[in-house]
Amino acid sequence: MPEDLPDDLLQRLRRFQTDAFPAQRSHFRLLVDDGQHPLTLFIGCSDSRLVPYLLTGTGPGELFLVRNVGAFVPPHDQSQGFHGTAAAIEFAVLSLKVSRIVVCGHSHCGAIRALYGEVPAGAKNLAQWLELGREAALPVAEPGPEALRRTEQRAVVLQLERLMDYPMVRQRVEAGTLALHGWHYVIEDGEVHVFDVQKGGFVPAAQADNAGTGPYLPPPDDGAAAAAAAAAADVAARP
Ligand SMILES: [Zn+2]
Repeated sequence: MPEDLPDDLLQRLRRFQTDAFPAQRSHFRLLVDDGQHPLTLFIGCSDSRLVPYLLTGTGPGELFLVRNVGAFVPPHDQSQGFHGTAAAIEFAVLSLKVSRIVVCGHSHCGAIRALYGEVPAGAKNLAQWLELGREAALPVAEPGPEALRRTEQRAVVLQLERLMDYPMVRQRVEAGTLALHGWHYVIEDGEVHVFDVQKGGFVPAAQADNAGTGPYLPPPDDGAAAAAAAAAADVAARP
């Protein structure tokens, strides 16, 4: 412990058990006895201002969470290395059989900002990791707020597309048993914009008619599927 830092975490741990836990004891007992059955895999940025439970009004047992810098999805086709996010996706889809995967980016994202700058010296893992968002970056040297927001949104679509390279994800999306949702959370407004492939972009939740589609909505017919895929590619490619 740094000497001048009060150990308030210990106090908080004790308070949790004495003050907060008793009211939830039976709920946790049930979650232990029956096991967890979350319906949603939530892939979110590690940013401390993004609080998935607050946004979604969920509690214990409802979200299978994986968070990382940027809310990025690594390629499935990796023959070596340790990929915690990839492992979480496989577990959530194959073992927990979730019916939704949310990829949630946000405003003022440091990871997205870093695509236009430099990472701290010695952060070789971070530098490598950020490559997962590289394709979303726009060809500008000094991005303003609007370019950053668009990059944040494009990065979300990029990760959704990479999710579709996971065979177990693609299979279930195409079978209509798994939905992919791309979200962009605007911290200062408390508003989530959801990616709607048919509208060709992000729509504020207040005006959306679903929690987000795509990039590949389970198709009513082949023509619609092709149109949806084309629209997703268009959004992702748009500078
Ligand atoms: Zn972030």
